[in-house]
Amino acid sequence: MDSAMSSNERAPIHRMLWFRLTLRFAALFTGLTLLVFLLLDYSLRAHFRSEVEEDLTLDIEEFAGILEEEGVDGVQAEFDREVEFEGEETVYLALLAPDRSFLARTDPAPWPVVDTDGLASLALGESKIRPIPAPDQAHSGLFIEARLPDGRYLQMADSMKEKEELIDFFRLLLGAALVVMLVCGFGLGWFITRRAMIEVDRLADTATRIAAGDLSLRVPIGNQGEEIKRLGLAFNEMLGRIDALLLELKEVTNNVAHDLRSPITRIRGMAETTLTGASELPLFQETTGAIIDECDRLVGILNTMLEIAEANTGMADKPNDLVNIAHLLGDAQDMFLPVAEEKGVSLDLQVVGTEHCVARGGESKLQRVFANLIDNAIKYTEAGGGVRIQVAATSSNLRVTVEDTGCGIAEQDLPRVFDRFFRGDSSRSSNGYGLGLALAQAIIRSHGGDILVASEVGKGSQFTVCLPGSNSIRHLAAAVGNCQ
Ligand code: ADP
Repeated sequence: MDSAMSSNERAPIHRMLWFRLTLRFAALFTGLTLLVFLLLDYSLRAHFRSEVEEDLTLDIEEFAGILEEEGVDGVQAEFDREVEFEGEETVYLALLAPDRSFLARTDPAPWPVVDTDGLASLALGESKIRPIPAPDQAHSGLFIEARLPDGRYLQMADSMKEKEELIDFFRLLLGAALVVMLVCGFGLGWFITRRAMIEVDRLADTATRIAAGDLSLRVPIGNQGEEIKRLGLAFNEMLGRIDALLLELKEVTNNVAHDLRSPITRIRGMAETTLTGASELPLFQETTGAIIDECDRLVGILNTMLEIAEANTGMADKPNDLVNIAHLLGDAQDMFLPVAEEKGVSLDLQVVGTEHCVARGGESKLQRVFANLIDNAIKYTEAGGGVRIQVAATSSNLRVTVEDTGCGIAEQDLPRVFDRFFRGDSSRSSNGYGLGLALAQAIIRSHGGDILVASEVGKGSQFTVCLPGSNSIRHLAAAVGNCQ
């Protein structure tokens, strides 16, 4: 039901991204802390044990020295001092004769596990350490047995109770710290992911409100972090484009409705008049011919509109020909020369930078563009005037200017000349639907270029087509070859 879930219904918490991220963050945090704690615990135990082992070994050496200097009584006195200082439950000390009878010892009662069984296996000067339970049975201890070079034995037991209590306290602290870490990890994870997700939520909310119909809304762009900012900007840009497309669609629909209504009404009028009045065959034929002409014009308008839409949306299959612009304009000049001469208008072509006069794209489409511009230039220029086509090509850009000495375009009309169905006052008496320049602009833009206009009423107009230069085209040698 994911896709069916409406966006303002909240999903269960375990499916929220912030919750999952927080959980993972906390688990990772805890896992790592636990690992560190276990390592610490292990190394602390190992360290304490080796410390006690080292102490016991040193003590054996110390008691051997006392035995040599002060005899058995000296050792017993030292044993007593140790027990008095440490406590009977903490240490056990014994000195044994070579026949393993006791010469000196502390109270063995708290140390029932201590025996003399292992002494027989000790070689002269050898010592052995083994773990034993401490007198309270809850802790452990270490027991060392050594055979002195003169054959006597020393036994010592040491309780690890104090050290283990320290470890227990340390564990308690670690446990408490672990709980604090867990809570902090979860809290911190929640805070961080929630903050990031708030911006994503805001995007989703805006998208939901837009889906409900309010296309004017935009995501607020603030200081939310670069990634979210980029997402927001891209989102707003997309909305702007959709908004503009919808507006254009609305305008086009209005224009189409408006512009198609007149020819359709005309067709209907002609058909009605013929049906009710005409009885002669020649009259029928004449009306039918006129209807066919009107239909052709309608189809022409519709086709041009489809071409503009295709070029604007980039839906059309993009041709990738290498087009020699100088040749193309030369052909156009040849084609329009008779019309221009008939009207008494001169038509010149001037090419600068022949070696770079190539463009990549659709030849027939570019032909349409320049044919429209030249056609307009002749159409809006009175007899005695002139039209000049200039090509200036460099490696970085290609400019074609179609300039005329015609009636010009009013300043307030200049921004609208590329709009679909726009027709200036000067064009009322001439043929056309106001689609030629819109198509030219859509085609040039789909070729990565642009088209500009400059004009002065009574003096003439200048349309400039800019296209990417030849250095953006591979296989230039072949293309230039075609240009010569
Ligand atoms: P149309 O079929 O009306 O020529 P276009 O889209 O080609 O449609 O041109 C739109 C309008 O721009 C024209 O109706 C005209 O008013 C103006 N226009 C275009 N080219 C020129 C020009 N060379 N001189 C004066 N006006 C022009």
